[in-house]
Amino acid sequence: MTTETREPIISVLGHVDHGKTTLLDWIRGSVVASREAGGITQHIGATDVPFEVVQEICGELLKKLKLKIQLRGLLFIDTPGHEAFTTLRKRGGSVADLAILVVDINDGLMPQTLEAIEILKQYKTPFIVAANKIDMIRGWVQNEAPQKQPEDVRAEFYNKFYTIVGKLSEKGFESDLYSQVSDFTKQVAIVPISAKTGEGIPELLMVLMGLAQQYLAKKLTVGVDTPAKGTILEVKEERGLGTTIDVIIYEGTIHKNDTIVVGARGEPVVTKVKALLRPHALDEMRDPEQKFKSVNSVYAASGVKIAAPGLENAIAGAPVYVGDAKIAEDVKKEIEGIEFSKDINGVVVKTDTLGSLEAFVKMLTKEGIAIRKGGIGKVHKLDVIDASTVKAHNKYLGVILAFNTSALDDAKTHASDSGVPIISNKVIYRLIEDYRQWIKDEREKEKIISEKTAIAPGKFRILPKHVFRESKPAIVGVEVLGGTLTLGARILKTNGRVVGRIKTMQLNKEDIKSAKAGEKVAISIEDVTIGRQLDENEIVYTFISLDEIKEIKTEELNESELNVLREIRDIQKNK
Ligand code: GDP
Repeated sequence: MTTETREPIISVLGHVDHGKTTLLDWIRGSVVASREAGGITQHIGATDVPFEVVQEICGELLKKLKLKIQLRGLLFIDTPGHEAFTTLRKRGGSVADLAILVVDINDGLMPQTLEAIEILKQYKTPFIVAANKIDMIRGWVQNEAPQKQPEDVRAEFYNKFYTIVGKLSEKGFESDLYSQVSDFTKQVAIVPISAKTGEGIPELLMVLMGLAQQYLAKKLTVGVDTPAKGTILEVKEERGLGTTIDVIIYEGTIHKNDTIVVGARGEPVVTKVKALLRPHALDEMRDPEQKFKSVNSVYAASGVKIAAPGLENAIAGAPVYVGDAKIAEDVKKEIEGIEFSKDINGVVVKTDTLGSLEAFVKMLTKEGIAIRKGGIGKVHKLDVIDASTVKAHNKYLGVILAFNTSALDDAKTHASDSGVPIISNKVIYRLIEDYRQWIKDEREKEKIISEKTAIAPGKFRILPKHVFRESKPAIVGVEVLGGTLTLGARILKTNGRVVGRIKTMQLNKEDIKSAKAGEKVAISIEDVTIGRQLDENEIVYTFISLDEIKEIKTEELNESELNVLREIRDIQKNK
């Protein structure tokens, strides 16, 4: 077997707006600028910075390193952020060999930075910190070391710098300015940079090269002529090609016509590579329709688009291996280890990729939140049914947490019918926060409701032109047509569907707990949108279940309430 040292794969993470994209743009820009150097291979989903380009950018700096191994270059994943990072999973770790954690030096470690650190810890990925936006420190002298800045600037810099060092130490990482680090395996190097002016980026690249050669040398030595291994970064429809997968190859070689096994929803797909595609270089692009050029083979480390039949169910984050049906079982096991379903009371989790599921589940587990089911893709009706089963036992766990994914329409309908909340967010820590907040709100509500009398039968009309807010919560003027309207009541529609809940009630701006037939009051209703579940002018009822109706002492009701109670019963019986 021939072995070779491949490029380290590098991923950029950090808090929103801290400069990840700007940094990647600067790096991509310098590759494009030196394209004249020739021989630069275009990648899908990644940018290759060949050694010659690193040399060009770093100049004299590289000589200090006394490079022991010959690195072909550095391969940067083009999509910044930890969604992309977690997608780059492989069994037992991450496809990314190294990560750059971008921190706005003026903001310090923000929630998403901390989340990124957690993920890097989970995957045991070595990283360096790019302390970005140093140009924004007042009086900063460009291209001058921190120690050599004017006194007040220096003080300001070190103040901010040590705040970062302190926070990293709280997270269990020793760190220092890159020039002070003697052993990269023991300390996290911090490189002050400006992604805007490019200052510090040569040092950043140099540290990456040093890091790679110090403790990745073994890991980067891979077989060249062995069957390729890769991870799906994205599943994409391409005109004329059908469903394709963008793959980062981290080991071996893949050829056109090779048989591959691809991780997918349900069974792994065994298929044959129809085309291996790479982007055209900008200057080679004659026909803008022809985005890609076909190549015969691709070796690690590379980003490539694979066109093959039957890729419709492929999932981002799943493995792609060159090999035949014999390894399908391995691929299946690898995915099954991450997607799971248990018969316990716990939340239902849906995410967009295998990697994000893995990371999210680990985080929830750390927070002590029980999980019944973890899956990939959109929220389906079956997920809602699962969550509503849990809800019957434990209301606070009967929810669906959807990370970076949405719900199908019938799932949404079913969720609103059964009162199962679907909480979604594109940021993991915010999603966990939203869930915690929801529990708090629910507890609060229960307290209010338990302090009140039971729900009385009530019938009311939503007054036209009295919708003050459509949702979250909806605020409307209503006229009580019969019976009594009570706070905390859920709302029964004439078609038998139950929606929302009355949260507050006001008469002449005063909070009240109930309203009688003939009164016009303003109410707020949560979990509905006027125009969707409820309409102007609609006549609706307070919801009392058939079981509860049996328990009601009818002798305590007045005539009007008795009539309304009969109507409520009839609606449910006719459903
Ligand atoms: P991302 O969300 O982490 O990808 O952040 P962006 O790269 O989009 O940057 C957010 C904002 O910060 C943009 O307006 C950038 O122009 C700006 N920015 C990024 N890096 C620097 C820097 O080094 N100096 C200054 N002054 N602005 C920067």
